[in-house]
Amino acid sequence: MIYFDNAATTCVSKTALDAMMPALTENYGNPSSLHLLGQTSNQALDEARQTVAKCLGAQPNEIYFTSGGSEADNWAITQMALQGQKKGKNHLITTTFEHHAVLHTMKRLEKNGFEVTYLDVHEDGVVRPEDLEAAIRPETALVTIMYANNEIGTIQPVEELAKVCHDHKVLFHTDAVQAVGHLPIDVKAQGIDMLSLSGHKFHGPKGVGALYCRRGVRLTNFIEGGAQERNRRAGTENLPGICGMAAALQEACDNMEENNARVSAMRDKLIAGITPIPCTRINGSLEHRLPGNVNASFEGIEGESLLLRLDLAGICASSGSACTSGSLDPSHVLLAIGTPVEVAHGSLRLSLDEVNTMEEVDYCLEQLPKIVELLRSMSPVWEQMQKEGRC
Ligand SMILES: *Cc1c(COP(=O)(O)O)cnc(C)c1O
Repeated sequence: MIYFDNAATTCVSKTALDAMMPALTENYGNPSSLHLLGQTSNQALDEARQTVAKCLGAQPNEIYFTSGGSEADNWAITQMALQGQKKGKNHLITTTFEHHAVLHTMKRLEKNGFEVTYLDVHEDGVVRPEDLEAAIRPETALVTIMYANNEIGTIQPVEELAKVCHDHKVLFHTDAVQAVGHLPIDVKAQGIDMLSLSGHKFHGPKGVGALYCRRGVRLTNFIEGGAQERNRRAGTENLPGICGMAAALQEACDNMEENNARVSAMRDKLIAGITPIPCTRINGSLEHRLPGNVNASFEGIEGESLLLRLDLAGICASSGSACTSGSLDPSHVLLAIGTPVEVAHGSLRLSLDEVNTMEEVDYCLEQLPKIVELLRSMSPVWEQMQKEGRC
C-alpha cells in the first residue's frame, strides 16, 4: 500500500512511540501529584514543553497543550473575539479557504453578533497583505490566516501579514497545523502572536496539539477546573501524547532541510508527470507551496471515482480535506481560488512526506493516467466535452 494522504494524518514515528512508552507504562503518575511518581511525570511534561517551545522559537510558558489543532483554533479565536467584544470590537478577519475548525468557529461567532471579513485568496491561493490592510478597521479584534493550506498546500506571507496587523495594533493568529514540522518557523522573528499546531500532522500521535500564545497577550481560560496549563486549560494532561508529539517535532525540525529536499523532488516529479494529461490543471501556486502537496483537477471525471480506483490500485489519496470527503459538495478551497464547480468535482490531493519513496511516485504515475483515461471513457460529461471540442 502506498500512503499519499499525509495532510490528513501521518503514521506515528518510532521516535514518537519510544517517547510515549514510559508515560504509558511505568511513569503513570499525575503531573499534579507531589510524590516522586507525579514529579517524574511533571518533569517529562516540562521537557516536552521546552522542546515544543524551542522548535517554534518561543518560551516554554507560551505553550499551552491542547487536544489538537481544532481545539487550539477554537480557543484562540473565541477567546480573542470575546475579549474584543468587551472593548466594543466586534470585527474579525480571516480568509475564504481556512480549515473548518476556523470557518465554523467564525460562523458561530457571526451568529453571536460578530462581523467577519473573509479575504479573497486569489487564483494562486495566496492572501495579499494589501487586501488585509484594506480590511482592517478600528473595531477589528483579531486576524486569523492559515500558514499553509491543507488542500492546495499554498504558503502564506505570514511575516508580512503579521506586520500589517501590528501596524494597526491588531492581534495575529495563524493555523499552522500544516506548516509546523515541515517549514522553518520562528514565532518571534515572524511576529506571530498566536499559533495552532497538531501532533498527528508530523508523525506524532492523534488527539494532541498546542496553542502558542505570546507573553503579553491575555489568554482567557478555555476549560475550567484544575490548575493545568497555567490555569488556562484544566484536565489531567495527555502525557503520552504530549511526549510523543514533542519527540516527533524535534525529529522533524532536526531533519527538515534534508526531508524537504527529498519530498519536494517527489512532488515535482508527480506534478511533471500529471501536467501532460489533457484537460488537467494543478491547483494553487507552484512557487509558494508545501514540499509534499500535489493537488490536481481532471476535467470530465468525479474525484470520488478516481479515489476508489486509486484505492484498488493500492494508493491512498484524498479528494480534498478528510473532513469534507463523504459529502458531495465541491471543496470550498478550490471554489475559493475560482475553480469552476464542475472542475472542482474532479480533484485529487496527493500529500507526500519523508516516509514516501520515488518508487511509489513512479508507480503512481504509471497508474494515474490509465485510471483517468478509463474513467473518462465511461463519462458522459467527458463525451459531451469532446463533442463540443472543449477538450
Ligand atoms: C488537520 C488540520 C486541523 C485539525 O487538527 P486536529 O488536530 O485534527 O484537530 C486544523 N487545521 C489544519 C490546517 C489542518 O490541516
